[in-house]
Amino acid sequence: MRPLQMVDTKTQYHKIKTEVDAAVLEVLESSVFIGGKVVSAFAENLAQYHGSKHCIPCANGTDALQIAMMALGLQPGDEVITPSFTYIATVEVAALLRLKPVFVEVDPKTFCIDPVAIEKAVTPKTKAIVPVHLYGHAANMEAIMAIAKAHNLFVIEDNAQAIGNDYTFSNGTVKKTGTIGHIGCTSFYPSKNLGAYGDGGAMFTNDDALAATLRMVASHGQSKRYYHDVVGCNSRLDAVQAAILDIKLKHLDEYIAARQKAADYYDKAFANNKNITVPFRAADNKHVFHQYTLLLDGVDRDGLHQFLADNGVPSMIYYPVPAHRQKMFDAFGGSNFNLPVTDWLTERVISLPIHTELDEEQQQFVVTKVLEFVNR
Ligand SMILES: *Cc1c(COP(=O)(O)O)cnc(C)c1O
Repeated sequence: MRPLQMVDTKTQYHKIKTEVDAAVLEVLESSVFIGGKVVSAFAENLAQYHGSKHCIPCANGTDALQIAMMALGLQPGDEVITPSFTYIATVEVAALLRLKPVFVEVDPKTFCIDPVAIEKAVTPKTKAIVPVHLYGHAANMEAIMAIAKAHNLFVIEDNAQAIGNDYTFSNGTVKKTGTIGHIGCTSFYPSKNLGAYGDGGAMFTNDDALAATLRMVASHGQSKRYYHDVVGCNSRLDAVQAAILDIKLKHLDEYIAARQKAADYYDKAFANNKNITVPFRAADNKHVFHQYTLLLDGVDRDGLHQFLADNGVPSMIYYPVPAHRQKMFDAFGGSNFNLPVTDWLTERVISLPIHTELDEEQQQFVVTKVLEFVNR
């Protein structure tokens, strides 16, 4: 059996190596490393894939979230409603800008922000909602957009884990996650579903004025060269990464299908186990399985994690400490938030290897080892 990994970017690379190597060498030969045709072509292709009017590339997903908050003119003290059950980047940038993160619960089935909890957390100071499409499953965007409209709030989607997911509204309209809110943000971190061979990120919007502001903020607040209208930052996707991503974009749907196939296999294998809940898939979206995360009941989760490691099966706890319990947020009153669902999930989730290169022998081995521990 090939050794198991959480994500196997190397085998995936070898399948597209000829094309990728040639594209990288072409960038080196052109010596246009920053900006230029390769970057703009990729941004256009990605906008088209998303059905989004604008795609603004940047240096990473964390920057994308920060630039989005800056471009929307959020001011110190403004409240931003986010889940606590997420990767830290989502809320860290809010804190960095001296905004006030307001942590709310997630839906225990989808692991995504709970619209009922959002509604309850809205105050006159609320300016934005940042839903996270966690593990590749979409948040309930229809409800979130309705709340945003009713209270005149901005919505910034953290789509770092769900690129390529299709969300269907009750009227039948289908949109890619990351194109539903005012701004969508994504990451091209190597292990993400559309991963670069380095860092990268992007923002999406259908609003022309907002697109111009996002571009300006990402480029030293510059409206034209050496004219700086607002305080910005320096956040760029480089040409080598853009060239690689443009090739991988052509494979994205096939990569998503491979992840879903692997998820189907796990789903079947764990379906009848009373201690294991397999990932929920709401009918309004197609889970793209950035992670395959089990919810355990009556199982020593950390014991399973160790047992798997001892047997050559990697697994991960995403995330062992929810954002509101991180030391970072002590100063923001993080511990004042009472989030029992979030705490409950934090103690019970475990993510198994999932990626585009898993074979059945490997998956069978993972399943056997998980069940061996759970059923003993
Ligand atoms: C990866 C990730 C980010 C940050 O992306 P980087 O490119 O690593 O900065 C933000 N939010 C979520 C949910 C992520 O998974």
